[in-house]
Amino acid sequence: MLYRNVGRSGLVLPVLSLGLWHNFGHDVTFERQRAVARRAFEHGMVHLDLANNYGPPPGSAEESLGQLLRTDLRGHRDELVISTKAGWDMWDGVYGGPSGSRKHLLASLDQSLGRMGLDYVDIFYSHRPDASTPLEETAGALHTAVTSGRALYVGISSYGPEQTRQIAAMLSDLGTPLLIHQPSYSMLNRWVDKDGLLDVTAELGVGVIGFSALAQGMLTDKYLDGIPEGSRATQSKSLAPALLAPETVQNLRGLAELARGRGQSLAQLALAWGLRDERVTSLVIGASRPEQLDQNVLALEDLSFTSAELAEIDRLAVD
Ligand code: NDP
Repeated sequence: MLYRNVGRSGLVLPVLSLGLWHNFGHDVTFERQRAVARRAFEHGMVHLDLANNYGPPPGSAEESLGQLLRTDLRGHRDELVISTKAGWDMWDGVYGGPSGSRKHLLASLDQSLGRMGLDYVDIFYSHRPDASTPLEETAGALHTAVTSGRALYVGISSYGPEQTRQIAAMLSDLGTPLLIHQPSYSMLNRWVDKDGLLDVTAELGVGVIGFSALAQGMLTDKYLDGIPEGSRATQSKSLAPALLAPETVQNLRGLAELARGRGQSLAQLALAWGLRDERVTSLVIGASRPEQLDQNVLALEDLSFTSAELAEIDRLAVD
């Protein structure tokens, strides 16, 4: 594993982090979950990314992590960075979200700590900007998460460049620096480049962890010859089969061919591409099988690209 400093902070993160959005809810056996989590740890993927609502049902991924911390990962708390988030819908009721309010964020964080059996998380995120809450209130709640000992660092997810500047300034005034931003980022989703977010985070000294760098599996060899049974696209989850239109799959085949020429799989190519820019601290990836992680970590063997390769990727990977 390679580790990069998170922006201008002293914290390092593995360049590949494990996300528990899917594959850690009650729909997956604990045996499978522990196999994936153990393999991630063995590969040095010591950063686990969660949110209050990951499951299904919401909250169950945090409960699964709690179980892992009492069993397979027992004794390793200080070797792990554990992140969670609040801001999207979580529980029924007026204060259950979606919300960036102080009331929702801190109540949700307390619930998350309870489910995981932890005294603190390493990183607590505002999961989304909330137009109905003043940014100062969300910043204040993040600051309280740290000063009350519930979190070591704070982050934001899916905020635009200007909102990022604003909340970073507010947090800095409060004395709790913004550690990290978590945007979506892959060859097929380049808004962080187009909107200048990466320039802003670099200027502010804030780290970046891109999510869904494999476009939920589209940027792997999995869908090149149809939709295999058991894959995310068959499970009425977040990857709609309509995204796998024939022209898209044709381009994915072209990318897979380019990857083969570099001695990589399509997944390895996609991860190497996402990490080619050192302003990106880490990519948070999902896995339904430990073998997927074995394959994906090999991406780190070649993170450099020729300009011809980059141009060909730009031609085939349309945002
Ligand atoms: P990815 O783009 O990494 O997709 C993961 C899926 O790709 C796996 O579940 C698996 O699908 C497939 N896959 C992975 N490796 C391989 C391989 N080598 N060969 C074949 N298939 C492979 O990310 P996710 O969409 O899962 O998101 C990752 C994490 O990002 C989440 O867990 C979460 O922590 C974070 N996230 C954050 C969001 C936010 O708003 N901040 C939003 C979304 C995600 P299959 O299950 O079909 O095998």
